[in-house]
Amino acid sequence: MDLLIKNGNVVTPTDTFKADIGVEGGKIVAIGSDLPKKAKDVVDAKGKYVLPGGIDPHTHMEMPFMGTTTVDDFEYGTTAAAFGGITTILDFAIQPKDKTFLDTIKLWRGKADPKVVIDYGIHLAVTNLTEDLVKEIPKVLSAGVCSFKLFMPYRKEGLMSDDGRIYSMLEESRRLGFLVQLHAENNAVLEFLIERNVAAGRLSAEYHAKSRPNFVEGEAIHRGLVLAAATGGNLYIVHMSTKEGLAELALMKAMGANVYGETCPHYLTLTDEKYLSPKGRRYIMSPPLRSKDDNEALWCGLADGTLSTVATDHCTFTNAQKDMGKDNFTKVPNGVPGTETMIPVLYSQGVGQKRISINKMVEVTSYNPAKLFGLYPRKGTLNIGSDADIVIFDPKFEMELSVKNLHSKIDYSIYEGFKVKGMPTYTFVRGKPVVYDRKFVGKKGSGKFVPRTKHQPLE
Ligand SMILES: [Zn+2]
Repeated sequence: MDLLIKNGNVVTPTDTFKADIGVEGGKIVAIGSDLPKKAKDVVDAKGKYVLPGGIDPHTHMEMPFMGTTTVDDFEYGTTAAAFGGITTILDFAIQPKDKTFLDTIKLWRGKADPKVVIDYGIHLAVTNLTEDLVKEIPKVLSAGVCSFKLFMPYRKEGLMSDDGRIYSMLEESRRLGFLVQLHAENNAVLEFLIERNVAAGRLSAEYHAKSRPNFVEGEAIHRGLVLAAATGGNLYIVHMSTKEGLAELALMKAMGANVYGETCPHYLTLTDEKYLSPKGRRYIMSPPLRSKDDNEALWCGLADGTLSTVATDHCTFTNAQKDMGKDNFTKVPNGVPGTETMIPVLYSQGVGQKRISINKMVEVTSYNPAKLFGLYPRKGTLNIGSDADIVIFDPKFEMELSVKNLHSKIDYSIYEGFKVKGMPTYTFVRGKPVVYDRKFVGKKGSGKFVPRTKHQPLE
């Protein structure tokens, strides 16, 4: 046996139990009490949780956007992820307007393959849907990519899909068994509000949020859900931020549509007051931060199963990049870091504050994303035969989050000074240590592209 993790408290979506886990050839080969076999490496996990590796299904590494590129490349971004207990990321390959889907996958794999330190998969972010490209979809599925993202906003940035295109992709998703991811905001209204604020000279960071009020997301989510129900398609709303959107999702789920929602740690824990600080532009992302009421509603949505996943939308722009919009919120590149802090923040604020159980945390950070995105049962579970993507989590480990002790290339943290209790201390990917007792022992390029199968509905 290559690795034996002894005496840990193994966590699944339904149970927590004491067991040893044995690993050989990158796979889990044994789970039980007092496994007798010897191993090349034995780690004692007494008093610790043993979790299936986290799956962050929403990252943007090395992504060109708003005239600049996210500063975390696939090496920095996945290193930070590994420290945060993430063993697989799903990154958005943004289709250049003149490229096919297959060319886009090739382009993204060219960036990621030599650099990743954990495993990864790709979603296709569609920017220019033509008839020819619709015909290419079966080949994209064969290449291991089974999720396509469409944007309702970002018309000026060239990313927008209109309702007709969204409808047609939802029809295809039903026919071919893939998942459509939707960035849901009402583009026409937010463009109108931005233009009105800019014309009146209202250019500070708070007007980013004021140009995208809750209903801008709520209405768009409603529209997306209606199209999903009408087509019988498979729909996943990314980065949900509002109680209005949540209510729409709950209703459509109750009516039996195959629809899912994702939220992010920043929508659970931070509010739009951040925009009033001198560095408010650091918190500019779309949709924006909301109110305490929205935070609490989203926690409830996680606890009651309305929301299925938590993802980071890790999208890193440095202070200098954010300063491109020092005097004008419309010029601030949108995005915040998160892949290293997701699980510690969820644990501290969610499990620690009794908003969710640790089993729910595992469900929304590993099991559900694995199923929805076609990684299960290879990933997302601690089972015999599954990849040995394993995290040892120390619930007593206390740390004050700071740019000084995090591993992203970005030069600030949105959680600066935030105290967490509970941190991943070991991260194994396919049985190989990447983080070992909080030290990086991984290797650039050792992560693998994971071809994904069809979307699996959650029961
Ligand atoms: Zn995103």
